[in-house]
Amino acid sequence: MKKAEILADQIEQTIVGQRWEPGDLFGSEVELIARYGVSRAVFREAVRLLEHHGLAEMRRGLHGGLFIRQPDPQPVAKAMAVYLDFQKVESRQLEDARLAVELFCVERAAARIGEDEVAEIRTLLAAEAAQVAAGEMRSLHDFHVLVAGLTANPALHLFVQTLTILTKRQRPPLDRSRVSPDDIHAAHARIADALIARDGALARHRMMTHLEDVSMAGHRRPAPRAEPAPRAEPAPPSEPAPREEPAEPTAEPAVG
Ligand SMILES: [Zn+2]
Repeated sequence: MKKAEILADQIEQTIVGQRWEPGDLFGSEVELIARYGVSRAVFREAVRLLEHHGLAEMRRGLHGGLFIRQPDPQPVAKAMAVYLDFQKVESRQLEDARLAVELFCVERAAARIGEDEVAEIRTLLAAEAAQVAAGEMRSLHDFHVLVAGLTANPALHLFVQTLTILTKRQRPPLDRSRVSPDDIHAAHARIADALIARDGALARHRMMTHLEDVSMAGHRRPAPRAEPAPRAEPAPPSEPAPREEPAEPTAEPAVG
């Protein structure tokens, strides 16, 4: 590793380990060069790395120095999505990844949802309804990012942001005759109902159905997944019988 990379790593570990906050002055250039015993060239290259990672920025001037920044997940998620796109992740692989991560997220979210989170969901759904009514479908992925955020797990949140960006990059425009923005919004509202009811199993089931519906509509060749009846698998979480589910089709996949 180059000297600058080693120094950048060391400073990053200090920033995180000592819990420096955004806006804090970590030190002036002169102080830091003396503290770490490196050349100005090495120090400046390390600063470029820190700035690239979004963790700090060098401000010039009398009261300048290296200031701590709040890293922004968006460019990180974007870079990961570009990488995966470049790796030619197939749409089926992307769907598998979304199922793996998002079904877990929705169950976690249901387990820890509180008043604030319910309000957040309702606000987002109202905005989404207005958008769909206006004939737009610009940010129909926001619901998925919100659900991931409700887990309060930054890793899951970042992965879902990455996977939704990748979905937008890869997926051809939805075939509206098969899945309309109204359908998508209705599916989100149903998942939200289950979340608000803290019913993780039902929310998971609805998320799975939704992801499969939109992924099939996104394929050029419709390829319904033929699911062999699971044999050795444990019984899926069964939905309590008397739940008012008039619109739920009775032919539910056996995998829960
Ligand atoms: Zn959706």
